[in-house]
Amino acid sequence: MEVIMGEAESKAALAGVYSQGKEPQLVSVSDSGHDEAWAIGGALFIVPAIPPDAPPLLEYALRVRREATFTGSCSVCGATVALLTFGSSVNVPLNHSSIPHRNNCPALDENIAPQLTRHYQERAEQTLEEQLKSATRQTRLKAASTPQGERIPIKNASFEKWAADFIDARMTDSPPCGHLKANVAQTWNMSTGDKSWKCNECFAYYQESVRRGEAQLSYREEHTCDRCRKFAPPLEPMLVRVDNFYIVGGMCSVCSTESQQAARPRQKSSRGKKGKRRGTNSRKR
Ligand SMILES: [Zn+2]
Ligand SMILES: [Zn+2]
Ligand SMILES: [Zn+2]
Repeated sequence: MEVIMGEAESKAALAGVYSQGKEPQLVSVSDSGHDEAWAIGGALFIVPAIPPDAPPLLEYALRVRREATFTGSCSVCGATVALLTFGSSVNVPLNHSSIPHRNNCPALDENIAPQLTRHYQERAEQTLEEQLKSATRQTRLKAASTPQGERIPIKNASFEKWAADFIDARMTDSPPCGHLKANVAQTWNMSTGDKSWKCNECFAYYQESVRRGEAQLSYREEHTCDRCRKFAPPLEPMLVRVDNFYIVGGMCSVCSTESQQAARPRQKSSRGKKGKRRGTNSRKR
């Protein structure tokens, strides 16, 4: 049974949803990976996914549209939510929150749709190998642009085998997000304390929730070295990038120092050389 409310009433109901100040939660991703369902309080919103390799203008338009849907007003054109039809209870899904973006607003569906269609068509014309190559390139760029304090890239070639085994093991014990299931050829992100694979979008949301103190790790895991598994606070930040895998975690100072030594004859001990800690931040993020 569905009751269609008057506009004023539905606006009030939706204003209630927005005023709860609840964070949007990703509920599910469509099989195609093209659409997402988000819940805010008791209301459900369907929004287009932001493709990991979207051109900047398309990505921007999708972000503006998404923010407008989640907040009820558009930061670019100033349009506010104006639902004509809205389900009777907060549990009835909203298929579209119709925000009447102005004609020149990038978030207007008529402006987004052709770009999005073209993007998915172009991608469909690529082979999986081409898609993976592009994902690896983007992941390399992501690692290179990660702030210095948050990464100590591994230089020791003998760590490559460890990293490859680590990734293999996580492929069997750590679930991927719906976006990765729908489209494997993108960056696979993991925070080792969290033990799940996330696309760039989901990973950004996760990192934000860590910053807000919502995502908690066990004290033990937080201070356990990802390589030797010793409990050894404080850990040093670790970044592993292999192909299209991007993993952040922590290593004890022994492993971290070793990871910085280029594999060369032992007698030239590089002990102490550049052995300084980078920050005291030991969290695995
Ligand atoms: Zn707008
Ligand atoms: Zn995802
Ligand atoms: Zn260690």
